[in-house]
Amino acid sequence: MHYSWQSCGFLGSESAGRKLVFVSTGLLLALASAVLAAAPKLEPLPLLIRNVTPVDAEHGIMPTQDVLVSAGYIHSMGEDLVAPTDARVIDGRGRFLAPGLWDMHVHLSYDARFIDVMPDLFLNYGITSVRDTGGDLKRLKPILASLYRPDRAAPRVFFAGPLLDGSPVVYGADDESGIGQSHLTPAQARSKVETLAKAGVDFIKIYEMVSPEVFEAFVSEAALHKLPIAAHVPLSMLASDAAPKVQSMEHLRNIEMDCARDADALLKERRALLKAGREQAGMSLRSSIHKAQRDSAIQNEDPTRCEYVLASMSNTIQVPTARLNAMTQYPPFAQSDWSSALDALPDSISSEWIQAPSHMDPTSYKVAGEWTLSMIPRLADRNIPIGAGTDTPIGWAIPGYSLHRELEILVAAGLDTQRALAAATLVPARFLGLQDSLGKVAPGYQADLLLLDANPLEDIRHSRQIRMVISRGKVVRGQ
Ligand SMILES: [Zn+2]
Repeated sequence: MHYSWQSCGFLGSESAGRKLVFVSTGLLLALASAVLAAAPKLEPLPLLIRNVTPVDAEHGIMPTQDVLVSAGYIHSMGEDLVAPTDARVIDGRGRFLAPGLWDMHVHLSYDARFIDVMPDLFLNYGITSVRDTGGDLKRLKPILASLYRPDRAAPRVFFAGPLLDGSPVVYGADDESGIGQSHLTPAQARSKVETLAKAGVDFIKIYEMVSPEVFEAFVSEAALHKLPIAAHVPLSMLASDAAPKVQSMEHLRNIEMDCARDADALLKERRALLKAGREQAGMSLRSSIHKAQRDSAIQNEDPTRCEYVLASMSNTIQVPTARLNAMTQYPPFAQSDWSSALDALPDSISSEWIQAPSHMDPTSYKVAGEWTLSMIPRLADRNIPIGAGTDTPIGWAIPGYSLHRELEILVAAGLDTQRALAAATLVPARFLGLQDSLGKVAPGYQADLLLLDANPLEDIRHSRQIRMVISRGKVVRGQ
Protein backbone atom coordinates (compact mmCIF):
# COMPACT_ATOMS: atom_id res chain seq x y z
CA MET A 1 0.00 0.00 0.00
CA HIS A 2 1.31 3.41 -0.87
CA TYR A 3 1.15 5.78 1.96
CA SER A 4 -0.16 9.20 1.21
CA TRP A 5 -1.25 11.88 3.57
CA GLN A 6 -2.98 13.55 0.67
CA SER A 7 -4.98 10.54 -0.17
CA CYS A 8 -6.00 9.75 3.33
CA GLY A 9 -9.49 10.32 3.67
CA PHE A 10 -11.07 10.74 6.71
CA LEU A 11 -11.37 12.78 9.31
CA GLY A 12 -17.63 16.38 14.72
CA SER A 13 -24.57 19.23 19.12
CA GLU A 14 -25.01 17.07 21.50
CA SER A 15 -26.79 13.81 21.36
CA ALA A 16 -26.82 13.35 25.10
CA GLY A 17 -29.23 10.74 26.19
CA ARG A 18 -29.73 9.57 22.65
CA LYS A 19 -28.06 6.33 23.44
CA LEU A 20 -26.77 5.70 26.85
CA VAL A 21 -26.16 2.08 26.20
CA PHE A 22 -23.71 1.55 23.43
CA VAL A 23 -23.07 1.13 19.78
CA SER A 24 -25.22 2.02 16.94
CA THR A 25 -28.71 1.83 18.14
CA GLY A 26 -30.31 1.73 14.72
CA LEU A 27 -28.41 -1.34 13.80
CA LEU A 28 -28.87 -2.93 17.19
CA LEU A 29 -32.60 -2.49 17.02
CA ALA A 30 -32.59 -4.14 13.64
CA LEU A 31 -30.54 -7.01 14.98
CA ALA A 32 -31.97 -7.28 18.43
CA SER A 33 -34.84 -9.62 17.82
CA ALA A 34 -32.83 -12.05 15.68
CA VAL A 35 -29.78 -12.10 17.91
CA LEU A 36 -31.53 -12.18 21.25
CA ALA A 37 -33.90 -14.86 20.12
CA ALA A 38 -30.95 -16.99 19.00
CA ALA A 39 -29.17 -17.09 22.34
CA PRO A 40 -30.19 -16.46 25.93
CA LYS A 41 -28.61 -13.29 27.26
CA LEU A 42 -25.73 -14.17 29.54
CA GLU A 43 -24.81 -11.42 31.97
CA PRO A 44 -21.10 -11.51 32.72
CA LEU A 45 -20.19 -12.57 36.23
CA PRO A 46 -19.55 -9.73 38.67
CA LEU A 47 -15.89 -8.76 39.02
CA LEU A 48 -14.49 -7.39 42.24
CA ILE A 49 -11.12 -5.75 41.75
CA ARG A 50 -9.54 -5.39 45.17
CA ASN A 51 -7.09 -2.67 46.26
CA VAL A 52 -6.61 -1.07 42.87
CA THR A 53 -5.73 2.54 42.09
CA PRO A 54 -8.32 4.02 39.71
CA VAL A 55 -7.12 6.71 37.31
CA ASP A 56 -8.93 8.75 34.69
CA ALA A 57 -8.52 12.04 32.87
CA GLU A 58 -11.00 13.89 35.07
CA HIS A 59 -10.06 12.68 38.56
CA GLY A 60 -6.38 11.90 37.98
CA ILE A 61 -5.09 9.33 40.43
CA MET A 62 -7.73 8.25 42.94
CA PRO A 63 -7.21 6.62 46.34
CA THR A 64 -6.57 2.88 46.26
CA GLN A 65 -9.89 1.06 46.74
CA ASP A 66 -12.13 -1.80 45.56
CA VAL A 67 -14.10 -1.57 42.32
CA LEU A 68 -17.12 -3.79 41.72
CA VAL A 69 -18.21 -4.43 38.14
CA SER A 70 -21.65 -5.94 37.64
CA ALA A 71 -23.96 -6.42 34.64
CA GLY A 72 -21.62 -4.44 32.41
CA TYR A 73 -21.38 -1.39 34.67
CA ILE A 74 -19.15 -0.09 37.42
CA HIS A 75 -21.52 -0.87 40.27
CA SER A 76 -19.62 0.65 43.17
CA MET A 77 -16.24 1.86 44.35
CA GLY A 78 -14.93 2.08 47.89
CA GLU A 79 -13.06 0.41 50.72
CA ASP A 80 -13.72 -3.19 51.67
CA LEU A 81 -16.65 -3.80 49.33
CA VAL A 82 -18.52 -7.03 49.99
CA ALA A 83 -18.02 -9.55 47.22
CA PRO A 84 -21.23 -10.91 45.71
CA THR A 85 -21.28 -14.71 46.10
CA ASP A 86 -20.77 -15.35 42.37
CA ALA A 87 -18.11 -12.65 41.92
CA ARG A 88 -14.69 -13.25 40.54
CA VAL A 89 -12.17 -11.48 42.78
CA ILE A 90 -9.12 -9.93 41.14
CA ASP A 91 -6.11 -8.71 43.06
CA GLY A 92 -5.43 -5.12 41.96
CA ARG A 93 -2.60 -4.37 44.39
CA GLY A 94 0.07 -2.16 42.83
CA ARG A 95 -2.02 -1.78 39.68
CA PHE A 96 -4.01 0.98 38.04
CA LEU A 97 -7.55 0.86 36.66
CA ALA A 98 -8.05 3.18 33.69
CA PRO A 99 -10.94 3.67 31.25
CA GLY A 100 -10.82 1.67 28.02
CA LEU A 101 -9.27 3.69 25.20
CA TRP A 102 -10.85 5.01 21.99
CA ASP A 103 -9.47 5.42 18.53
CA MET A 104 -11.44 8.36 17.10
CA HIS A 105 -10.50 7.78 13.50
CA VAL A 106 -10.58 4.34 11.91
CA HIS A 107 -11.93 2.72 8.78
CA LEU A 108 -13.08 -0.81 9.56
CA SER A 109 -14.13 -1.61 5.99
CA TYR A 110 -11.37 0.19 4.08
CA ASP A 111 -9.26 -2.91 3.35
CA ALA A 112 -11.02 -6.27 3.33
CA ARG A 113 -7.91 -8.05 4.58
CA PHE A 114 -8.29 -6.37 7.96
CA ILE A 115 -11.92 -7.14 8.61
CA ASP A 116 -11.41 -10.32 10.61
CA VAL A 117 -8.44 -9.23 12.67
CA MET A 118 -9.15 -5.59 13.42
CA PRO A 119 -11.63 -5.92 16.31
CA ASP A 120 -9.43 -8.34 18.27
CA LEU A 121 -6.36 -6.23 17.72
CA PHE A 122 -8.18 -3.19 19.06
CA LEU A 123 -9.20 -5.07 22.20
CA ASN A 124 -5.73 -6.55 22.68
CA TYR A 125 -4.26 -3.07 22.73
CA GLY A 126 -6.92 -1.81 25.13
CA ILE A 127 -9.05 0.03 22.57
CA THR A 128 -12.63 -0.66 23.65
CA SER A 129 -14.36 1.91 21.38
CA VAL A 130 -13.76 3.25 17.91
CA ARG A 131 -15.26 5.90 15.69
CA ASP A 132 -15.54 4.68 12.09
CA THR A 133 -15.04 7.91 10.17
CA GLY A 134 -16.04 6.73 6.71
CA GLY A 135 -17.18 3.47 5.22
CA ASP A 136 -19.65 2.19 2.70
CA LEU A 137 -22.70 1.01 4.69
CA LYS A 138 -23.21 -2.01 2.47
CA ARG A 139 -19.80 -3.25 3.56
CA LEU A 140 -19.85 -1.95 7.09
CA LYS A 141 -23.19 -3.34 8.25
CA PRO A 142 -22.34 -7.03 7.82
CA ILE A 143 -19.10 -6.40 9.72
CA LEU A 144 -20.99 -4.76 12.56
CA ALA A 145 -23.57 -7.53 12.60
CA SER A 146 -20.80 -10.08 13.08
CA LEU A 147 -19.27 -8.03 15.89
CA TYR A 148 -22.50 -7.87 17.85
CA ARG A 149 -23.01 -11.58 18.08
CA PRO A 150 -23.47 -12.40 21.75
CA ASP A 151 -20.50 -14.79 21.76
CA ARG A 152 -18.09 -12.28 20.28
CA ALA A 153 -15.98 -9.74 22.13
CA ALA A 154 -15.61 -6.54 20.14
CA PRO A 155 -15.03 -2.87 20.67
CA ARG A 156 -17.99 -0.50 20.53
CA VAL A 157 -18.24 0.95 17.04
CA PHE A 158 -19.76 4.35 16.30
CA PHE A 159 -20.05 4.92 12.57
CA ALA A 160 -20.70 7.66 10.04
CA GLY A 161 -21.34 5.80 6.80
CA PRO A 162 -20.03 7.36 3.57
CA LEU A 163 -17.84 10.41 3.16
CA LEU A 164 -20.32 13.15 2.27
CA ASP A 165 -18.47 14.83 -0.53
CA GLY A 166 -19.20 17.34 -3.30
CA SER A 167 -17.97 17.24 -6.86
CA PRO A 168 -15.69 15.92 -8.12
CA VAL A 169 -15.80 13.33 -5.36
CA VAL A 170 -12.39 12.35 -3.91
CA TYR A 171 -13.16 8.66 -3.24
CA GLY A 172 -15.47 8.03 -6.17
CA ALA A 173 -16.85 5.02 -7.98
CA ASP A 174 -13.42 4.05 -9.28
CA ASP A 175 -11.93 3.94 -5.79
CA GLU A 176 -11.87 0.47 -4.33
CA SER A 177 -13.02 1.54 -0.90
CA GLY A 178 -16.15 3.11 -2.44
CA ILE A 179 -16.58 5.42 0.49
CA GLY A 180 -17.17 8.85 -1.03
CA GLN A 181 -20.50 10.14 -2.35
CA SER A 182 -21.14 13.24 -4.38
CA HIS A 183 -23.71 15.91 -3.43
CA LEU A 184 -24.33 18.79 -5.78
CA THR A 185 -27.31 20.54 -4.22
CA PRO A 186 -28.56 21.35 -0.72
CA ALA A 187 -31.66 19.22 -1.41
CA GLN A 188 -29.50 16.17 -2.13
CA ALA A 189 -27.52 16.83 1.03
CA ARG A 190 -30.63 17.03 3.22
CA SER A 191 -32.12 13.89 1.80
CA LYS A 192 -28.87 11.98 2.31
CA VAL A 193 -28.69 12.91 5.99
CA GLU A 194 -32.28 11.79 6.46
CA THR A 195 -31.46 8.43 4.85
CA LEU A 196 -28.37 7.99 7.00
CA ALA A 197 -30.27 8.87 10.16
CA LYS A 198 -32.78 6.14 9.32
CA ALA A 199 -29.90 3.72 8.70
CA GLY A 200 -28.73 4.28 12.28
CA VAL A 201 -25.51 6.24 11.84
CA ASP A 202 -24.05 7.78 14.99
CA PHE A 203 -22.66 10.88 13.29
CA ILE A 204 -21.97 12.17 9.78
CA LYS A 205 -18.72 12.92 8.03
CA ILE A 206 -18.50 15.93 5.69
CA TYR A 207 -15.72 15.82 3.17
CA GLU A 208 -13.46 18.22 1.35
CA MET A 209 -15.08 18.99 -2.02
CA VAL A 210 -18.50 20.19 -0.87
CA SER A 211 -19.67 23.71 -1.73
CA PRO A 212 -20.51 26.11 1.12
CA GLU A 213 -24.24 25.72 0.32
CA VAL A 214 -24.09 21.94 0.50
CA PHE A 215 -22.04 22.18 3.71
CA GLU A 216 -24.72 24.38 5.30
CA ALA A 217 -27.43 21.92 4.27
CA PHE A 218 -25.54 19.04 5.89
CA VAL A 219 -25.11 21.07 9.06
CA SER A 220 -28.76 22.08 9.39
CA GLU A 221 -30.11 18.62 8.56
CA ALA A 222 -27.69 16.94 10.97
CA ALA A 223 -28.94 19.26 13.72
CA LEU A 224 -32.53 18.19 12.98
CA HIS A 225 -31.54 14.56 13.45
CA LYS A 226 -29.28 15.33 16.44
CA LEU A 227 -26.28 13.85 14.66
CA PRO A 228 -22.82 15.17 15.54
CA ILE A 229 -20.58 16.11 12.62
CA ALA A 230 -16.98 15.19 11.87
CA ALA A 231 -15.52 17.16 8.99
CA HIS A 232 -12.61 18.01 6.83
CA VAL A 233 -12.50 21.75 6.17
CA PRO A 234 -14.03 22.05 2.68
CA LEU A 235 -11.56 23.55 0.22
CA SER A 236 -14.27 26.05 -0.81
CA MET A 237 -14.42 27.45 2.73
CA LEU A 238 -12.32 29.01 5.48
CA ALA A 239 -11.55 26.84 8.50
CA SER A 240 -12.83 29.61 10.80
CA ASP A 241 -16.24 29.53 9.06
CA ALA A 242 -16.55 25.75 9.19
CA ALA A 243 -15.19 25.13 12.69
CA PRO A 244 -18.03 26.51 14.84
CA LYS A 245 -20.58 24.45 12.88
CA VAL A 246 -19.09 21.00 13.41
CA GLN A 247 -18.14 18.95 16.45
CA SER A 248 -14.84 17.51 15.24
CA MET A 249 -12.28 18.39 12.58
CA GLU A 250 -9.90 15.80 11.22
CA HIS A 251 -6.16 15.89 10.47
CA LEU A 252 -5.87 19.67 11.16
CA ARG A 253 -6.25 19.76 7.41
CA ASN A 254 -6.74 23.03 5.49
CA ILE A 255 -6.53 25.04 8.71
CA GLU A 256 -3.10 26.30 7.70
CA MET A 257 -4.68 27.93 4.64
CA ASP A 258 -6.82 30.15 6.89
CA CYS A 259 -3.83 31.09 9.06
CA ALA A 260 -1.94 32.54 6.10
CA ARG A 261 -1.33 36.23 5.55
CA ASP A 262 -3.09 35.96 2.19
CA ALA A 263 -5.89 33.64 3.35
CA ASP A 264 -8.62 35.48 1.43
CA ALA A 265 -6.64 35.40 -1.81
CA LEU A 266 -5.92 31.71 -1.28
CA LEU A 267 -9.63 31.02 -0.83
CA LYS A 268 -10.39 32.86 -4.07
CA GLU A 269 -7.72 30.84 -5.83
CA ARG A 270 -9.05 27.54 -4.44
CA ARG A 271 -12.57 28.33 -5.62
CA ALA A 272 -11.24 29.10 -9.10
CA LEU A 273 -9.24 25.85 -9.14
CA LEU A 274 -12.29 23.86 -8.01
CA LYS A 275 -14.36 25.44 -10.79
CA ALA A 276 -11.73 24.86 -13.45
CA GLY A 277 -11.15 21.26 -12.29
CA ARG A 278 -14.76 20.11 -12.38
CA GLU A 279 -14.01 17.49 -15.00
CA GLN A 280 -10.86 16.23 -13.28
CA ALA A 281 -10.65 13.23 -10.97
CA GLY A 282 -11.39 14.39 -7.43
CA MET A 283 -8.31 12.81 -5.86
CA SER A 284 -5.86 14.49 -8.20
CA LEU A 285 -7.66 17.86 -8.11
CA ARG A 286 -7.55 17.83 -4.32
CA SER A 287 -3.87 16.87 -4.29
CA SER A 288 -2.95 19.63 -6.69
CA ILE A 289 -4.76 22.23 -4.55
CA HIS A 290 -3.03 21.00 -1.39
CA LYS A 291 0.28 21.12 -3.19
CA ALA A 292 -0.33 24.63 -4.49
CA GLN A 293 -1.24 26.09 -1.09
CA ARG A 294 -0.28 24.01 1.96
CA ASP A 295 3.43 24.55 2.47
CA SER A 296 3.42 28.17 1.35
CA ALA A 297 0.48 28.93 3.67
CA ILE A 298 2.43 27.43 6.58
CA GLN A 299 5.47 29.49 5.68
CA ASN A 300 3.36 32.65 5.39
CA GLU A 301 1.43 32.41 8.64
CA ASP A 302 -0.03 35.57 10.10
CA PRO A 303 0.04 34.91 13.87
CA THR A 304 -2.75 37.41 14.58
CA ARG A 305 -5.01 35.91 11.97
CA CYS A 306 -4.18 32.41 13.20
CA GLU A 307 -5.20 33.47 16.71
CA TYR A 308 -8.64 34.30 15.29
CA VAL A 309 -8.79 30.95 13.49
CA LEU A 310 -7.84 29.11 16.70
CA ALA A 311 -10.52 31.03 18.63
CA SER A 312 -13.11 29.73 16.14
CA MET A 313 -12.19 26.18 17.16
CA SER A 314 -12.64 26.60 20.91
CA ASN A 315 -15.55 24.12 21.06
CA THR A 316 -14.56 21.87 18.18
CA ILE A 317 -12.55 18.72 18.83
CA GLN A 318 -9.38 18.58 16.76
CA VAL A 319 -8.25 15.09 15.79
CA PRO A 320 -4.72 15.80 14.52
CA THR A 321 -3.83 12.23 13.48
CA ALA A 322 -0.27 13.31 14.34
CA ARG A 323 1.23 9.89 13.63
CA LEU A 324 -0.06 10.17 10.06
CA ASN A 325 0.74 13.83 9.41
CA ALA A 326 4.18 13.65 11.04
CA MET A 327 5.30 10.38 9.54
CA THR A 328 8.47 12.00 8.24
CA GLN A 329 9.38 12.95 11.80
CA TYR A 330 8.17 9.66 13.33
CA PRO A 331 8.44 6.86 10.75
CA PRO A 332 6.43 3.95 12.14
CA PHE A 333 9.02 1.40 11.07
CA ALA A 334 11.72 3.20 13.08
CA GLN A 335 10.14 1.84 16.27
CA SER A 336 11.94 -1.14 17.76
CA ASP A 337 8.65 -3.04 18.23
CA TRP A 338 7.31 -2.30 14.74
CA SER A 339 8.16 -5.62 13.16
CA SER A 340 6.91 -7.67 16.10
CA ALA A 341 3.63 -5.70 16.02
CA LEU A 342 3.39 -6.45 12.29
CA ASP A 343 3.48 -10.16 13.09
CA ALA A 344 -0.08 -9.96 14.39
CA LEU A 345 -1.35 -8.96 10.95
CA PRO A 346 -2.30 -11.39 8.17
CA ASP A 347 0.70 -12.36 6.02
CA SER A 348 -0.73 -10.61 2.99
CA ILE A 349 -0.44 -7.30 4.88
CA SER A 350 2.71 -7.81 6.95
CA SER A 351 4.71 -8.93 3.92
CA GLU A 352 3.63 -5.72 2.16
CA TRP A 353 4.09 -3.36 5.11
CA ILE A 354 7.57 -4.61 5.92
CA GLN A 355 8.50 -2.82 2.66
CA ALA A 356 7.14 0.46 4.04
CA PRO A 357 10.52 2.25 4.17
CA SER A 358 10.97 1.93 0.42
CA HIS A 359 7.55 3.47 -0.21
CA MET A 360 8.03 6.54 1.89
CA ASP A 361 9.23 9.83 0.55
CA PRO A 362 10.88 11.49 3.56
CA THR A 363 10.63 14.97 2.07
CA SER A 364 7.03 15.05 0.96
CA TYR A 365 5.28 15.93 4.22
CA LYS A 366 8.15 17.46 6.10
CA VAL A 367 6.69 20.95 6.40
CA ALA A 368 3.15 19.80 7.13
CA GLY A 369 4.41 17.28 9.69
CA GLU A 370 6.43 19.88 11.56
CA TRP A 371 3.48 22.25 11.47
CA THR A 372 1.14 19.58 12.88
CA LEU A 373 3.52 18.92 15.78
CA SER A 374 3.88 22.65 16.45
CA MET A 375 0.09 23.01 16.60
CA ILE A 376 -0.40 20.50 19.44
CA PRO A 377 0.82 22.79 22.27
CA ARG A 378 -0.90 25.75 20.63
CA LEU A 379 -4.24 23.92 20.72
CA ALA A 380 -3.62 22.77 24.29
CA ASP A 381 -2.66 26.26 25.50
CA ARG A 382 -6.00 27.55 24.20
CA ASN A 383 -7.99 24.68 25.72
CA ILE A 384 -9.12 23.47 22.32
CA PRO A 385 -10.22 19.86 22.81
CA ILE A 386 -7.89 17.30 21.22
CA GLY A 387 -8.98 13.81 20.22
CA ALA A 388 -6.78 10.78 19.56
CA GLY A 389 -7.27 9.18 16.16
CA THR A 390 -5.02 7.24 13.81
CA ASP A 391 -6.73 6.73 10.42
CA THR A 392 -6.23 2.96 10.86
CA PRO A 393 -5.39 1.16 8.62
CA ILE A 394 -4.32 4.00 6.31
CA GLY A 395 -0.65 4.99 6.43
CA TRP A 396 0.62 1.71 7.87
CA ALA A 397 -1.50 2.05 10.96
CA ILE A 398 -1.49 -1.24 12.86
CA PRO A 399 -4.88 -1.41 14.60
CA GLY A 400 -4.55 -0.61 18.31
CA TYR A 401 -0.79 -0.30 18.27
CA SER A 402 -1.02 2.91 16.27
CA LEU A 403 -3.31 4.54 18.88
CA HIS A 404 -0.55 4.14 21.46
CA ARG A 405 1.89 5.69 19.00
CA GLU A 406 -0.53 8.59 18.47
CA LEU A 407 -0.68 9.21 22.24
CA GLU A 408 3.10 9.07 22.52
CA ILE A 409 3.57 11.52 19.67
CA LEU A 410 0.96 13.91 21.10
CA VAL A 411 2.85 13.87 24.41
CA ALA A 412 6.22 14.28 22.69
CA ALA A 413 4.74 17.31 20.89
CA GLY A 414 3.81 18.92 24.20
CA LEU A 415 0.50 17.53 25.39
CA ASP A 416 0.47 16.60 29.08
CA THR A 417 -0.38 13.00 29.91
CA GLN A 418 -3.74 13.86 31.49
CA ARG A 419 -4.91 15.54 28.29
CA ALA A 420 -3.52 12.71 26.24
CA LEU A 421 -5.58 10.27 28.30
CA ALA A 422 -8.62 12.56 27.87
CA ALA A 423 -8.01 12.57 24.10
CA ALA A 424 -8.62 8.81 24.03
CA THR A 425 -11.40 8.64 26.66
CA LEU A 426 -13.44 11.71 27.71
CA VAL A 427 -13.14 13.68 24.49
CA PRO A 428 -14.50 11.00 22.15
CA ALA A 429 -17.27 10.12 24.64
CA ARG A 430 -18.26 13.80 24.66
CA PHE A 431 -18.34 13.93 20.86
CA LEU A 432 -21.13 11.35 20.93
CA GLY A 433 -22.91 12.81 23.94
CA LEU A 434 -21.92 9.75 26.00
CA GLN A 435 -19.85 11.53 28.62
CA ASP A 436 -22.20 10.35 31.38
CA SER A 437 -21.65 6.69 30.62
CA LEU A 438 -18.21 6.26 29.03
CA GLY A 439 -14.69 7.56 29.50
CA LYS A 440 -14.32 7.62 33.28
CA VAL A 441 -13.80 5.24 36.17
CA ALA A 442 -16.86 6.11 38.23
CA PRO A 443 -19.91 4.29 39.63
CA GLY A 444 -22.66 4.05 37.03
CA TYR A 445 -20.23 4.17 34.11
CA GLN A 446 -20.05 1.33 31.63
CA ALA A 447 -17.32 -1.14 32.50
CA ASP A 448 -14.79 -0.66 29.70
CA LEU A 449 -11.62 -0.79 31.77
CA LEU A 450 -7.90 -1.48 31.60
CA LEU A 451 -5.94 -2.96 34.46
CA LEU A 452 -2.44 -1.51 34.01
CA ASP A 453 0.86 -2.40 35.63
CA ALA A 454 1.94 1.24 35.80
CA ASN A 455 0.46 4.73 36.03
CA PRO A 456 -0.34 6.21 32.58
CA LEU A 457 -0.26 9.76 33.96
CA GLU A 458 3.35 9.29 34.97
CA ASP A 459 4.29 8.15 31.47
CA ILE A 460 1.74 7.71 28.69
CA ARG A 461 3.64 4.65 27.47
CA HIS A 462 2.38 2.90 30.59
CA SER A 463 -1.01 2.63 28.89
CA ARG A 464 0.59 -0.22 26.95
CA GLN A 465 1.38 -2.18 30.11
CA ILE A 466 -1.94 -3.93 30.02
CA ARG A 467 -2.58 -6.70 32.51
CA MET A 468 -6.29 -7.10 31.73
CA VAL A 469 -8.88 -5.65 29.35
CA ILE A 470 -12.52 -5.47 30.45
CA SER A 471 -14.98 -4.70 27.69
CA ARG A 472 -18.70 -4.27 28.49
CA GLY A 473 -18.09 -5.82 31.90
CA LYS A 474 -16.34 -8.93 30.61
CA VAL A 475 -12.68 -9.85 30.84
CA VAL A 476 -11.60 -10.12 27.19
CA ARG A 477 -7.86 -10.21 27.65
CA GLY A 478 -5.63 -11.27 30.56
CA GLN A 479 -6.44 -13.63 33.36
ZN1 LIG B 1 -9.39 8.60 7.72
